[in-house]
Amino acid sequence: MVANSRAHEPLILPWRGPTLTVRFATLPRRTPAPTGGRPRLAPVTHRPPTDLVVAGLGPAGRALAFRAAAAGLSVTAVDVRPQRRWTATYAAWADELPAWLPAETVASHIGRPAVWTTGPRLLDRVYRVLDTARLQDVLDLGAVAVVRGRVRDVGSEGVVLEDGRRVCARYVVDARGVPADPQRAQQTAFGVIVDDATAAPALDGHDAWFMDWRRDNGTAPDDVPSFLYAVPVGDGRTILEETCLVGRPALDLGELERRLRVRLAARGVCTTGDERVERVRFAVEGAPTSPGVIGFGARGGLMHPATGYAVATALSTADAVVDAMRRGDDPQHVLWSARARSVAAMRQMGLRVLLRLDAHGAIEFFDAFFDLPVAQQRAYLSGRDDASGVASAMWRLFRVLPRPRRMTILRSLR
Ligand SMILES: Cc1cc2nc3c(=O)[nH]c(=O)nc-3n(C[C@H](O)[C@H](O)[C@H](O)COP(=O)(O)OP(=O)(O)OC[C@H]3O[C@@H](n4cnc5c(N)ncnc54)[C@H](O)[C@@H]3O)c2cc1C
Repeated sequence: MVANSRAHEPLILPWRGPTLTVRFATLPRRTPAPTGGRPRLAPVTHRPPTDLVVAGLGPAGRALAFRAAAAGLSVTAVDVRPQRRWTATYAAWADELPAWLPAETVASHIGRPAVWTTGPRLLDRVYRVLDTARLQDVLDLGAVAVVRGRVRDVGSEGVVLEDGRRVCARYVVDARGVPADPQRAQQTAFGVIVDDATAAPALDGHDAWFMDWRRDNGTAPDDVPSFLYAVPVGDGRTILEETCLVGRPALDLGELERRLRVRLAARGVCTTGDERVERVRFAVEGAPTSPGVIGFGARGGLMHPATGYAVATALSTADAVVDAMRRGDDPQHVLWSARARSVAAMRQMGLRVLLRLDAHGAIEFFDAFFDLPVAQQRAYLSGRDDASGVASAMWRLFRVLPRPRRMTILRSLR
């Protein structure tokens, strides 16, 4: 166990541990969790001193654990490798990030990122690449009791670890990410991190390519499409990443690496082969959680299924979940309002459309998408409860797309 001295002592019970009676009065009692579905944990005969247990300390679990502890809740968090340093490049639209996130977590700030569909254009929306190491440090776990271990089961009363230990809590959050499963749509990408001067020829004078769909990556018109994502990541470095937005299955990393090398060579970017690389593969669809368990982050369906963005959503949603816990309410009501469910359903439809698009269709689709007013782009890409904004963006897109794309959309409704 890794526990800071400032943290409360977590109650970790052996599977057949002694019966404890601990008075627990921090929070009002939660409404009973629904029964049915997967089995609940074995009945507990004690009152746990922990308000919240979080399974999984990726960006979502860590953000929630940090904000809950900062709000005065007693929090225990379990992860297989709680001290693993994050290395992924995380980015988000500036307007998605919560005000409490310190400026030091921003590695680079792109005022007007560019996209290339049928030609170049600038987006009037600020994009930020996060300093992953600082982000992880800012989400300080000093006031959280951290347990190293693999969670075997997550139920409404707590989590059970593979070695039989269990941690009980009033609120149970599953933030274990999404297991690899070929049935789920995935995003894949292969990137190299080079110095800004080396990257410059790939950027054509722009600050960043949010999406560059040009086909100088050696692909034929019928090939599954991929685009170049090229953004400065701070410290004079830029990531150049060939990305398969979504696929079921998504393009494999070897193919993406080949395309990236062809593209970079075509643009006169000289790489040595010794650059730091980033390999990306993750599911864009959530996974089920047990009744009475709060799914959070990618696990809880908080990832945008058509873009793969989830970090900013977790950061900006954590406080609402914590507030609900402090009030003794069910955070599911905060997370999954009727509007949030509608938004998720429409975005799921957007995913089905993307999965059906060929290279030509993808370019037409994104050309029309980036023609939308920024407010509509934002409604579709960000936030979780602007159902009318998402609907109007999708309707407008439908109206302007050529007939074959409309047919693709209609087929995706079935
Ligand atoms: C290279 C890369 C770049 C990315 N870039 C972006 C980006 O720019 N913006 C963005 O929003 N998203 C990005 N993503 C997607 C990103 O993965 C997710 O947004 C984010 O990681 C989701 O966070 P999470 O905490 O929900 O899940 P995860 O990050 O998957 O974290 C899950 C945690 O649970 C732990 N865990 C899993 N199973 C168990 C178990 N049984 N017991 C105990 N612990 C367990 C894991 O160790 C892990 O720490 C990127 C992904 C990759 C791989």
